[in-house]
Amino acid sequence: MTSFLTHRALVHDTTLPPYRRHGALRTCLTRFAPYGFRATYHHLTVSARMPRLLEADPDSLVRAVEELHEARQLWLARAEEYAAQRRAAKRAGQRHPAQPAWWDRPWWASPDSAWRNDPFLHPRLSLPDYVRRQNALLDGAELPGCPACGEEGPALSVSTGHDRAELCRSCARVLVPCPCEQWHSFEPELRIGWSRTWRREHMTGTGGPNPHWPTHLGTARIGRLESYTMRWDSGVLHYYRDEEGPPGT
Ligand SMILES: [Zn+2]
Ligand SMILES: [Zn+2]
Repeated sequence: MTSFLTHRALVHDTTLPPYRRHGALRTCLTRFAPYGFRATYHHLTVSARMPRLLEADPDSLVRAVEELHEARQLWLARAEEYAAQRRAAKRAGQRHPAQPAWWDRPWWASPDSAWRNDPFLHPRLSLPDYVRRQNALLDGAELPGCPACGEEGPALSVSTGHDRAELCRSCARVLVPCPCEQWHSFEPELRIGWSRTWRREHMTGTGGPNPHWPTHLGTARIGRLESYTMRWDSGVLHYYRDEEGPPGT
């Protein structure tokens, strides 16, 4: 059995204390997390209604791991197909894929990197629906709306200091990049420590969303994202808020 399946079985094991089953869910997330580790965890806490105190509803851990497992099955099937297609293409002399598979995209420079910087932002789709959507796009389907989440509402214009980028109003994926052609990283104005999210302070004791935390969510949260740029300068990697401008200017 793979590590994912071994740990999935531990999440199901009702003889274990909830914190051990929660730890096993964490290991599953290190093996497969379509929104990135933190944002996928956040998604599952909400979709599986994981209360702050796991003892109040240990079954929520099973709901969480089963949603993750279903999405992983869909991804595995497509990844195997993709590998076979790539082998055939290589035999035919095509060394590089026309477009990289969605699961191979590096987070660095990716249009959906906001999810990595802010786990409260990610598509509101269930994980299986997200994987189905990404697989369909890989197959060349033309789907309306934001490629990540399907949102069709007007994009949100966010400042990059010198210009603006258009972000999905629902998941913060970059829809129209800043015209400067540099990559901007969009990060939350209010940083929430990961340990607070890990402890599910955004949930109530019964597994509902905590209405008081965090203060801004959804489109309001995306509108407050701040833009950062990384740039090599004389052999040193600089990282700065875009408002401030590059060092030395
Ligand atoms: Zn979106
Ligand atoms: Zn720019």
